[in-house]
Amino acid sequence: ASAKNVAVLGATGSIGQSALEVIAGSSGRLRAFALSGHTRLDELSQAAQEHGSRTVVATDAQLADDYHWNGLPGGIRRLTGQEGLEAVVSDPAVDVVLAAIVGAAGLRSTLAALEAGKAVALANKETLVMAGPIIEDAIAEHRGRLIPVDSEHSAVFQAMQGAKPKEVRRIVLTASGGPFRTWPVAQFRQITVTEALTHPTWDMGPKITVDSATMMNKALEIIEARWLFDLSAEQIEVVIHPQSMVHSFVEFVDGSVLAQLSPPDMKLPIQYALEYPDRLPGPADRVDWTQAMTLEFEPPDPKRFPAIALGHECARAGGTSGAVLNAANEAAVQAFLDGELHFTEIVPACRSVLESHNFEPRPSLSRLIELDAWARKEISTWMLA
Ligand code: NDP
Ligand code: MG
Repeated sequence: ASAKNVAVLGATGSIGQSALEVIAGSSGRLRAFALSGHTRLDELSQAAQEHGSRTVVATDAQLADDYHWNGLPGGIRRLTGQEGLEAVVSDPAVDVVLAAIVGAAGLRSTLAALEAGKAVALANKETLVMAGPIIEDAIAEHRGRLIPVDSEHSAVFQAMQGAKPKEVRRIVLTASGGPFRTWPVAQFRQITVTEALTHPTWDMGPKITVDSATMMNKALEIIEARWLFDLSAEQIEVVIHPQSMVHSFVEFVDGSVLAQLSPPDMKLPIQYALEYPDRLPGPADRVDWTQAMTLEFEPPDPKRFPAIALGHECARAGGTSGAVLNAANEAAVQAFLDGELHFTEIVPACRSVLESHNFEPRPSLSRLIELDAWARKEISTWMLA
């Protein structure tokens, strides 16, 4: 069979770089056909040359104009901005789109890929959190498909292969608990940016690393799972598992529980999504069964991690709540990274913005985009109050 052409959106990021390793290790089955980057244009240009890509998209058009693309061979097509992304994801030569842009910035290109009927390997969970029903409609109408890359959702997806929907009783998402799992709660207010950016088991981009520390990441993942697997909020549980070896569980109606295990290395779920439905050898880390190991599981403490309740509430409410929670969180995390907000204020600020918004059960895409901008401004207002 000929190679699968992959468009890697967010190729300069943590997931993007792992994806390029997977592609390089695929013995020619996968090809890095198109790559996008936003600010790291040296890395983008270098990756395109190394991987023989046909197209690069520099999404920050201003930066792209000022950049010297000297090293780039003439045969490589250069595109810019959101239009560039939309052209790439609808290119008939592209077989699978890896959506690995961080945050709401990834929404339009993910939707455009699904509207072009593509298979989308989804890392960008924020897209589903914001616009779950709109994404589902686009899939149904244009016969595209979403394959999860998020490790928990990949685990659930793998464990559900061959199962009928009515056989599933619930899923249990595992969470590492982040760097502050055992810290005294009284010390949380002093948490620094450096401490929040040091994750015990995963090496990821800054936004999701802070989300893991607050456990807002798990809240977003509850909402992501609600749409991906068409489950109710009550069917999605969370358990703390500090070793990050079991990536989630599926419990069936007969009481049987299936898990997926592998070391904390995103190359495995990325490969599974890109190669789906095939399972093939690849470069991901392996479990070392020659070493003794202990796997622990404990229920999350709602006082320590109030974000999880927010995730369940938004998964239950649907409508506009996911978009508001997501945008409020993106703005709050940025404010924390900029030293303008305490760690312990991130979740309360998000709750406050969520509770003050005018809920609508069936918002349009343009309404969701308006609310995204509104929620970001509300975070600034909250910080001044
Ligand atoms: P990074 O911050 O490492 O990478 C983000 C990527 O998005 C970069 O390529 C960046 O470009 C690009 N980007 C940033 N802003 C914009 C924008 N406004 N428009 C277009 N592109 C933009 O993030 P991660 O790789 O860690 O995460 C990517 C996504 O995957 C997130 O949604 C995250 O939640 C999800 N995810 C990540 C996991 C991980 O292990 N890292 C695990 C599970 C999910 P540049 O760097 O050139 O500026
Ligand atoms: Mg995850």
